[in-house]
Amino acid sequence: MLIIFHEAFHESFYSEDPYDNAAVPDRLVGMMDALRDQGRYEVRTPEPATRADLLRGHSAGYIDSIETRPLLFNMASLAAGAALLGADLALRGEPSFACVRPPGHHASRTSSWGHCTFSNVALALLRLRDLGQITSATVVDFDLHTGNGTQDVLRGWPQAQVLNPYGDTAVEYLGVLEQQLLRAPQVDVLAVSAGFDAYKHDLGAKLDTEDYFNIGRLLQAYAIRLGHQRRFAVLEGGYYLPDLGKNALAFCHGFE
Ligand SMILES: [Zn+2]
Repeated sequence: MLIIFHEAFHESFYSEDPYDNAAVPDRLVGMMDALRDQGRYEVRTPEPATRADLLRGHSAGYIDSIETRPLLFNMASLAAGAALLGADLALRGEPSFACVRPPGHHASRTSSWGHCTFSNVALALLRLRDLGQITSATVVDFDLHTGNGTQDVLRGWPQAQVLNPYGDTAVEYLGVLEQQLLRAPQVDVLAVSAGFDAYKHDLGAKLDTEDYFNIGRLLQAYAIRLGHQRRFAVLEGGYYLPDLGKNALAFCHGFE
């Protein structure tokens, strides 16, 4: 299990939006402190995604519009690049968690919202498909919010499905996820949009830290059932900073 991270992700002011919760200063500091604790996980540094990588999922006009904001463009390209690295590592049998911002699951082909810029997870899967390394994929998005951008970018690829577990309580939520995974087909890779905003002190007011371990463990079990165990996860939302680190660490312990 590897952590994918770049020091540039600590840059605070890449967004002009004063309500961009994903861009608040120090959002990833506690997470990286927790993930580096005791040296359990090695950290790998990503390269930025290229324009060709971005064009697999976004229109040239949309990419150009982001490029007019260089700080955002550079960091978003790096976040997409982190997802690409995670996907490559997955194919080599190494699971990973990419600790990135801006997040990606609300980034569609020609627009985005919800603090997202480029569709990190979808871009990584499209690249593997174009390289001929996969023909099918399951995306599990356990962020509080539905990954509409991922769905949009992967539309037209029937062998790529996006699962969004739901439930009014943690027990119901985990039960739904377990059932979804039991019914999920044989695919070439599992990609995870890992959002932590369904946490009990965050927007969703539902899941506890141990639930993130259990989510990770259910996803690991699915990857094992697939036989090849290929899996990677990429950070999406999660805004209750005091516990973001321990929740991400719990997920990694389950997913590893
Ligand atoms: Zn969210």
